Amino acid sequence: MSDETPICSAKGCRDAAVWVLAWNNPKIHTPERRKTWLACDEHREHLSQFLGVRGFLKDVVALSEWEQPEGSGGPQHPAAG
Ligand SMILES: [Zn+2]
Repeated sequence: MSDETPICSAKGCRDAAVWVLAWNNPKIHTPERRKTWLACDEHREHLSQFLGVRGFLKDVVALSEWEQPEGSGGPQHPAAG
């Protein structure tokens, strides 16, 4: 349990994040790797566009759905090894 509120990744924004943007840069990441940015409602579109035009954006998920307490087949990487 934590009281920490995830904060939007947009520059200068300190709003609580409500979205997770999952992305991947094929030049530096393996295909199954996912980087994540957090976004508030206001910046979700801005950040998605930033990643989208570069072809990096893979998924946009509500933060509440991303942090699934039970790890049963969520968006996390599949069992490795
Ligand atoms: Zn924001």
